[in-house]
Amino acid sequence: MQVFDTVTGLQTYLALHRASQTIGLVPTMGALHAGHLALVAQARTECSLVVASIFVNPTQFNNPDDLKHYPRTLEADLALLEAAGCHVVFAPTEAEMYACPPVLRLSFGELEQRLEGAHRPGHFNGVGLVVSKLFHQVQPQVAYFGQKDLQQCLVVQQLVQDLAFPLQLRRCPTVREADGLAMSSRNRRLGEAERQVAPRLHQSLQRVVQSAQQGAPVAQALAQARAWLEQSGAFSVEYLEVADTEQLRPVTQLTAGQTYAVLVAAQLGPVRLIDNLLFQAGA
Ligand code: AMP
Repeated sequence: MQVFDTVTGLQTYLALHRASQTIGLVPTMGALHAGHLALVAQARTECSLVVASIFVNPTQFNNPDDLKHYPRTLEADLALLEAAGCHVVFAPTEAEMYACPPVLRLSFGELEQRLEGAHRPGHFNGVGLVVSKLFHQVQPQVAYFGQKDLQQCLVVQQLVQDLAFPLQLRRCPTVREADGLAMSSRNRRLGEAERQVAPRLHQSLQRVVQSAQQGAPVAQALAQARAWLEQSGAFSVEYLEVADTEQLRPVTQLTAGQTYAVLVAAQLGPVRLIDNLLFQAGA
């Protein structure tokens, strides 16, 4: 496995291999877990050269405390990537990625006004900037993102469409712990009691799906699940919503057979967690 911390080093290496290889990119912020490794595994099935990036991108953090405490575990990450059969790791410094403070601002229209966009001002601008840089630096044919960050997937899809990046996007399913908690680098910061109660987040989504599929009005399904989540006393819920899967517009009435997303964000102890499920409305 080749590891680079400069764009020049990365590009010199890729230039030698580009003609004969299909390049797959897996962008990450490190502190890797099985969710990230599933993206690498998926990339390995479709691409002959898999590049993973590790960069805790400051421009996508709206909360300085979150950025400061974001786990950084480069040595362990490299060992996991090597074992997963990743071919190239790009782990640049902040100065390498942002030689000058960026002036460009990306706006994703109404998609950005909702959910993560509404609660994390500037977050998707930062995501758009760093993903654009990585796409230019690596020039992959395929790029891999996780459904765990559904709104991010949609934002990146918009970016690729509007800026005509010549690549395909893949959305990979959310990998969960045995108790249902979606894997996240931030889970490491949960205390023991918080970790015990954390699966409620996923369960609240399941409750919404179950009630909605049994014919309960969406508003009622959401209110009951939210109350149940808050009952634990551990979560401070930012949003729990049912939305369409294209623009994440809030939905109050379901149409049978259509696919919807239910999405949640909540503070649990020191960390803010997000999760979502896709489901089909019953008849
Ligand atoms: P992050 O390091 O959190 O920026 O995540 C890097 C990529 O891994 C993003 O595309 C995430 O959506 C994806 N990812 C994070 N957690 C999971 C998970 N539990 N299952 C699948 N993909 C994930």
